[in-house]
Amino acid sequence: MAKDKLAFIDEDVANLKEQGLFINIRTIESAQGAWIVVDGKRVLDFCSNNYLGLANHPRMREAAKKAIDEFGVGPAAVRTIAGTLSLHHELERRLAAFKGVEDALYVQSGLCANQAAIPPLVGREDVVFSDRLNHASIIDGCRLSRAKIVVYEHCDVADAERVIKENLPNYRRGLLVTDGVFSMDGDVAPLDKLYEVAERYGVMTMVDDAHGEGVLGKGGRGIVDHFGLHGKFDVEMGTLSKAFGVVGGVLAGKRKIVDYLRQKARPFLFSSAVPAADTAACLAAVDILESSTELVDRLWENADYFKAEMKRLGFDTGNSMTPITPVMLGEAPLAKEFSRKLFDEGLFAMAIGFPTVPRGLARIRVMISASHSKQDLDQGLEAFAKVGKELGVV
Ligand SMILES: *Cc1c(COP(=O)(O)O)cnc(C)c1O
Repeated sequence: MAKDKLAFIDEDVANLKEQGLFINIRTIESAQGAWIVVDGKRVLDFCSNNYLGLANHPRMREAAKKAIDEFGVGPAAVRTIAGTLSLHHELERRLAAFKGVEDALYVQSGLCANQAAIPPLVGREDVVFSDRLNHASIIDGCRLSRAKIVVYEHCDVADAERVIKENLPNYRRGLLVTDGVFSMDGDVAPLDKLYEVAERYGVMTMVDDAHGEGVLGKGGRGIVDHFGLHGKFDVEMGTLSKAFGVVGGVLAGKRKIVDYLRQKARPFLFSSAVPAADTAACLAAVDILESSTELVDRLWENADYFKAEMKRLGFDTGNSMTPITPVMLGEAPLAKEFSRKLFDEGLFAMAIGFPTVPRGLARIRVMISASHSKQDLDQGLEAFAKVGKELGVV
């Protein structure tokens, strides 16, 4: 008899379980917000990307319903055949204006955006310079391009320059790509200095602003606004699924590039458009962000308060400069047990381990939101203090 061809799955899953890396997926049974129902229990949500509380905002729900009445539910085609709606054009215009760039392209997700942008810019004869901690979707975009990938040390401008100098002469052209805000650590790339180096060598530049969009910069205009580099980066990739509270990815930047992506980007050419309801909700999010900085201000107040209190309690929150708050625990089984105990205390905060973060750097990643009240934050701090003492972490 032939051997069981699927036995490798049992072995691998057993392996994951043994290392504490098997993911138990929780089910959300309510709308998103500070308080949600998870696996039948009402808990305080400390781990979603709903930075501004927009995922269930009344103006956005209204906009989505209205769009369904006008346009229906399905996109019916890819953007390049019969799927481009007037709403898509309007959103792209508004996002470009919001970010202070020439043009923008709206695609299905942030992950798709990275796959859409990188392969048209570089190919087999080219080289990508990539930060060691770049997001998986950037890495996948680079791999799809078949360009040579050269990693530089995390946020290390001198190392980026070293690898450019060493490698660029052997290739046709180069692209430097970095996360803006690193999603698991909350630290910020030295974008101004990276830009200077890349420019000096004639290397194209791209930044993934998934966690800067709606968070950093004036009224949430993103990392490029934070550094005052408007119009300089060749491509700013972003997501509409985090602070913007909906779904979709955006590629913003120079018109020449964005127009080129309309011809070449495979997720744009080969996967159906984002439906009208989501697109309209994204438009409402831009309206909300442009009308006031109140939500972004509250997000930062909440995050600053929470991080300061966590430090006071003795937790290691790494090098975060943003509302992303990693609570460093080391080994994955400890992080999982910590998360389970927090859940018993009514606090939902998932443990994160390899391959999302390097081995031995497992953590609970707390995501603070503008929708948390002071009382919510204090309740969360109390749960962390209690579990931290029980498990000998603080
Ligand atoms: C979440 C994330 C993405 C993917 O965005 P989606 O819209 O969820 O597909 C890409 N890059 C980074 C840095 C992210 O954190």
